[in-house]
Order: sequence, then C-alpha cells, then structure tokens
Amino acid sequence: MPEAVLEQAAAEMLDWHGSGMGVMEMSHRGKAFMAIAEQAERDLRTLLAIPAHFKVLFSQGGALAHNAMVPLNLAGRRPARAMDFVLTGSWSQKSAKEAARYGEARIAASAADTGFTTLPDPATWRLSADASYVHLCSNETIHGVEFHTLPDLAALGSDAPLVIDFSSHVLSRPIDWSRVGLAFGGAQKNIGPAGLTIIVVREDLLGHALPICPSVFDYRALADADSLLNTPPTYAIYVAGLTFQWLLAQREGALTGVAAMEVRNIAKAQLLYDAIDGSSLYVNRVDPACRSRMNIPFFLRGDDGAPLQDPAHPRNAAFLRGAEARGLLQLKGHKSVGGMRASLYNAMPMAGVEALVDYLRDFERNA
Ligand code: PMP
Repeated sequence: MPEAVLEQAAAEMLDWHGSGMGVMEMSHRGKAFMAIAEQAERDLRTLLAIPAHFKVLFSQGGALAHNAMVPLNLAGRRPARAMDFVLTGSWSQKSAKEAARYGEARIAASAADTGFTTLPDPATWRLSADASYVHLCSNETIHGVEFHTLPDLAALGSDAPLVIDFSSHVLSRPIDWSRVGLAFGGAQKNIGPAGLTIIVVREDLLGHALPICPSVFDYRALADADSLLNTPPTYAIYVAGLTFQWLLAQREGALTGVAAMEVRNIAKAQLLYDAIDGSSLYVNRVDPACRSRMNIPFFLRGDDGAPLQDPAHPRNAAFLRGAEARGLLQLKGHKSVGGMRASLYNAMPMAGVEALVDYLRDFERNA
C-alpha cells in the first residue's frame, strides 16, 4: 500500500470529512458512502480508460470465487458451454479446473512443458469455434509470467470474448479494452485491502447467467443494482478509492496515473532483472519476452550451480534471515515453486528495489 494512502485512512478512521462517522460505520446506502463508491468507480474508469460500454462491478469472494462466477455468468452464452483456457501458470490452471465444474473447459494451449517459463505463441492456440469465451491470466503471480500484449482473438479466427484475470498487475499498465470482454481481479495486490473483487465487463456479455448462478454474483443483477445488491465491502472500496486518487496524482515526466506507473514499473523490474541476470548466484528462468514486471521469482544456486528450490536449504535460509534483518520482507517464493520471489507492486518505491539489489550483491559477495 502507498504510505500516503495508509496515512489518510488512519487520519479519517474516526471521522470521515466531518461526517461524525468513520467509513466502517456508514450505511452502504447512505449519501456519504454512495459518494465514496461513485468517486472510486469514476477514478478507476479514468485511470484505466474504461470505455462507457463496460460496467465496473465491485464484488466480493476474491478472484478464486470469480473463477466460478465467470463461467456461471458467461459459459451459457453458447449452447456448448465450452470455454478455451490458455495455461500459463498456477492461476490459469486453477481457473480451468474450477470452470470445468460448470461447462467444458478446453485447453487451447499450455506452457506446462517449459515449467511455465514461456508463453505459448498465440498462433499455435487451438481456439474452438463454439467457445463462450477464452480465458487467460494476464500476470501469473507465482510463475512470474506476464502478457505484455493481449492477444487479438479476432485475428486468430475466434469471435469469443477474452476474459483476463488481472489480479496481480491491474493498474500497473494500461489495458487495451478493444481486446477484452471481461477482466476480473482481487484488490489486494495493487489496489487495497483483501475482500474487494473488481470485475470490468462489456455490457453485451451480461444476461447469460446459468440458473444455478448465485443471484448475488449474477453480473447482470449486480450491474443493474450498481454493485449494491447487498452490503459491499465498504471499507475496502473506500481504501481502493484512496489508492485511485493517489495513482491519479502520480507523475513521471509528462505522464500521469497508470502511464506514469508503467514507466516506473518497467524501471523497477529492469533494475532487479539486470541484477539477477548479471550475477552467478541468482537465476530467473522465465523467457525475457514474458517476464513479469510485478512478480519476480528467482533462485539461489547451490555449489553445483543448480537452483535451490527448498526454502529450508541453509543458503536460502541464510538469505532470508539476512534480508529480514535489513527490513526486506516476504521474499520467500510461493510454496508450490520454492526459491524466492520479489513482488514489485505499484506501491513499492524504487528505493525498495535498490535496497534489494544492494542486498543481493552483498549476499553474493559473502556467499
Ligand atoms: N489470480 C491471481 C493471478 C492471483 O494472484 C491470486 C491471488 N494470489 C488469485 C487469483 C486468487 O485470488 P484471491 O485470493 O483473491 O481469491
């Protein structure tokens, strides 16, 4: 979280703008909260240049709940209830597995054979003519693989809408909405507290929910009720709104908002990748063409040069201890892949990355 956002939330905790209430105490249908939610939506639309024919929905359940809600809402667009999945890491795999409960989840392409260190070339995707949609995870948080360009499905011969899980890089870069039908993601990486899930959906994709879709997660109903079908995660929406304002105020040269963040994110990621690639102790195995700017997994090498996956290996343990002593926290890799991972979300300042790079060099010198 940007420190300025946390400070503002703290300052307004007991009394929001002289209302005599904190945001947590407000009725979600009261004027004050409605104004907060409307402003948050407007700012998100501005930041991501979301076209008018897309709805922005504030929901709950996290991205994993919406791994079910997306098929429940979209699979029924076509009689086959088929969905094409592009597997590029743990999160797209999870999405496909969940979707298979509600329709036919087909694997259009998979990078499993490279250990999810590459992106399958869109020209090789096996897209089906009767698919209700095509799903991909635009940034794989665990494997550190990012789509730097979204595929143009029409050019690949598919007329299905593209669904993207943008949980872990939303607002780190602009989005080409002409290529997207629906985007969804949890807020807890680049936006605000866990509990808020954001869905941006093209209007013509609404109204196809399967009868078993829970009504509170029917995107058509949620859109019709301006995301107020039931009590939304009010405090999370408020903090998200503060983050949006913070983002709008960010500047890099002539650029503002998300464009400014993108420049900063490119520079931050480059600094760390250069340090990793330039060392003989650390290794990142992801194809440079699709390396994530947000999540950078890396391994320390053992004496034989092989990457050390086990976090309990004495060299890994020493690395993590030393990092913690310098205030460099949460560097342990996801348990499914081991090793290390640095997450350089929007709120991570360049100084944080510089501190990490200094540590990498110092640790290597003494290893
Ligand atoms: N998709 C991606 C890309 C993620 O990074 C995560 C969380 N790490 C999820 C889905 C799951 O999100 P949630 O915990 O909000 O259900």
